[in-house]
Amino acid sequence: MKFLLWAILIFAVVWVLRNKAQAQARSQSQARPQSPSPRQSTASGREIETMLRCAHCGTHFPASEAVFDTARTAFCCSEHRQRHAAH
Ligand SMILES: [Zn+2]
Repeated sequence: MKFLLWAILIFAVVWVLRNKAQAQARSQSQARPQSPSPRQSTASGREIETMLRCAHCGTHFPASEAVFDTARTAFCCSEHRQRHAAH
């Protein structure tokens, strides 16, 4: 009978400790401030890429896609750069 009492006591202690740990974890997750996602800050200040105009066909295209000749003239593609140089 003593063994049963001990078993109940140990079970009760374990149950209480487990409940405490769960409550603590829950309160910690709630207390943790909601960190703003890094995307929110960049969403308002969106980068607008510089647009260049092709010297051959006149098409506007982003500067990152530009092809330059030796005179630093911008072209939409290497084909137009070659065609422009042939003129
Ligand atoms: Zn072009």
